[in-house]
Amino acid sequence: MTISEPASVPVGPATAPRRLVLLGATGSIGRSTADVIAHAPEGAFEVASVAGGSDAAALAKMAIALKASFAALADPAGADALREALAGSGVRSGAGPEAVLEAALHDCDLVVGAIAGAAGVEPTHAALEAGRTIALANKECLVCAGGPFMRTAARAGARLLPMDSEHNAIFQALGGADPSTIEQMILTASGGPFRTWTAEAIAAATPQQALAHPNWSMGPKVTIDSASLMNKGLELIEAFHIFGIEAGRLDVLVHPQSIVHGLVTFADGSVTAGMAVPDMRTPIAHCLAYPDRVETRVRRVDLAAIGSLSFERPDFERFPALRVAMDCMKAGGSLPTVLNAANEIAVEAFLAGRISFHQIASMVEQVCEAAVRRGDDGEPATVGDALEIDRMTRHRAREALM
Ligand code: NDP
Ligand code: MG
Repeated sequence: MTISEPASVPVGPATAPRRLVLLGATGSIGRSTADVIAHAPEGAFEVASVAGGSDAAALAKMAIALKASFAALADPAGADALREALAGSGVRSGAGPEAVLEAALHDCDLVVGAIAGAAGVEPTHAALEAGRTIALANKECLVCAGGPFMRTAARAGARLLPMDSEHNAIFQALGGADPSTIEQMILTASGGPFRTWTAEAIAAATPQQALAHPNWSMGPKVTIDSASLMNKGLELIEAFHIFGIEAGRLDVLVHPQSIVHGLVTFADGSVTAGMAVPDMRTPIAHCLAYPDRVETRVRRVDLAAIGSLSFERPDFERFPALRVAMDCMKAGGSLPTVLNAANEIAVEAFLAGRISFHQIASMVEQVCEAAVRRGDDGEPATVGDALEIDRMTRHRAREALM
């Protein structure tokens, strides 16, 4: 077992301010990152560039608030709206995928990768290729193209800091331990809004019910993934790549209070755990300041007030998406890439009212099985190969929906 990230790469200058690039600046993680920056000590951070998807007004507002020098919108149709909204601010702007790439490659100490879905693969990978340190929230990058991402990181001497709360907790719980002493890593899941529901009730759940997460406030895609437990499956694949750990040493526990986010068991039986209240500003602040710490306004863990922490095994019958994702992780090859793309289409279709909640897992499983039957299950060698598999899978999944 190896932890693939080089431990010796410096994260940035010891002197403030640390220069940041923020990809996905208008989303849930982007806004929480802005909050951490706003409440950090004066001059701790500065923002070189920001990128967003299609909301020009929100991106302009964020660019001005963060005093960024460049703002990029992925949607070319928003070019004029972005330029107008930034008129007189001194912030330069661009629109289209090349502009997002330009934003990703701005000179900086740390890139926050917080675009939702596989849309983040190319710009995040470009920054990695340029040797940048990436604080990665966008787990779909590693599910879609984990092998190529980690090989690029090793080649470019770039470092990935895990921003996803479970991986961040494990990263902290590892404490620089000798990888050969690690026996197991456990990611916790809150269980989502349907933890105690019957299979029949889950099957008929509406988008509104699935979007009502009990503990976390997040963007729509990751919230639906949390309700189906697909999110935990994607996160296992993410951990597999980030920590270079065998699939058989990764496990999931359902923990409804969302206080313990990740645990590491060592060869001597010791267990270390990462704890925090469920608020992304904590792992975000940890990544932004790493290896230092900055103060946040996040509520502190009050164990006496919480009283008890409970844990249970996940129920694969009621939450088949987790089983499908674990099978894909173990099978490897192209299956994680196929899983990710099929799931994005299925979640889109569910949110649009076109399929039921239980069809998310069954549709993803069918698309994965069809890839195996066709023999399309070889591992993508490059990010380009992974994106081609992603594109074909989306096409097939959309056809299956017709
Ligand atoms: P949101 O949907 O809230 O935000 C997504 C962001 O990506 C928005 O800024 C959006 O812009 C932008 N975006 C979409 N497409 C593109 C594109 N092609 N180029 C550039 N930017 C684009 O998602 P979240 O913040 O919830 O999640 C972001 C990532 O972090 C996901 O991978 C998620 O799984 C992960 N994550 C999220 C957590 C959370 O608490 N939210 C927790 C752990 C991980 P626009 O606003 O214009 O659409
Ligand atoms: Mg997570």
